[in-house]
Amino acid sequence: MTAAKVIGISRHRLATDGDGVTTLVAFNGCPLRCKYCLNYTCWDPTKGREYTPESLFAEVKIDQLYFLATKGGVTFGGGEPMLQVDFIKEFRALCGPQWQLLAETSLNVPFEKMEALDPVLDGYIVDIKDMNPEIYRAYTGKDNLLTLKNLEWLLQRRGAESIMVRVPHIPDFNTDEAVAQSMERLKVMGVKHFDEFNYIIR
Ligand code: SF4
Repeated sequence: MTAAKVIGISRHRLATDGDGVTTLVAFNGCPLRCKYCLNYTCWDPTKGREYTPESLFAEVKIDQLYFLATKGGVTFGGGEPMLQVDFIKEFRALCGPQWQLLAETSLNVPFEKMEALDPVLDGYIVDIKDMNPEIYRAYTGKDNLLTLKNLEWLLQRRGAESIMVRVPHIPDFNTDEAVAQSMERLKVMGVKHFDEFNYIIR
């Protein structure tokens, strides 16, 4: 039986993570350790409530009419949703093709996960952190090689329209200049949709 731990479900989101009305489902488990992570409970494998694709579908389908009327759906976040391949594929089989399913992801996952999950997703919100490998490593504790390879593959495979890249100003880790450089590099790669924003430190 496929199951996953979910640390939070947030309903009736509008224009925050994808088109239309969305429900954000945040999974436990993340390969990164971002210094200003707001969802750090996802680092503790004991945290969260266990769902099967069926039990999650039963809970979130209460908003089906909103999803269908606004072309919205479910945005999977975390934690790292791209690690939940079987769960999300089974969820897609339950909800059918009409719901919009998005992944809010760092893309810092093995390529096999991308290849397996991409066919059932409608788009991505990519939290790129910073394109500079040293800044990325200092901020997340990992290098960004997988992220860059996966983003390149996604852009080639599906084009830029369904990919939004979030480029944060990260206090004490990057500068306005570093953010501008990240955006330039991303534009050269073919990214068209950006969300440039400031991290809020608690
Ligand atoms: S990728 Fe997201 S969930 Fe994971 S550590 Fe960074 S901010 Fe937290």
